Amino acid sequence: MKADIRVCSAWETAHERPRYTLQDRCPDCGADTENSAPAPYNPEDRYGEYRRRVKRRERDA
Ligand SMILES: [Zn+2]
Repeated sequence: MKADIRVCSAWETAHERPRYTLQDRCPDCGADTENSAPAPYNPEDRYGEYRRRVKRRERDA
């Protein structure tokens, strides 16, 4: 099982920047942490499709 990088759920109010940790609780403020894994869809694929569409349009112009 790969390590899940988690992020403090209260970092926006408790810290100046996202507080990443591997623990269930933020070591700094004690708030719960949430999984920082990316969304289920693959954004790279969406942008790839967008880029391909733009290229196609430029060729037609
Ligand atoms: Zn925190």
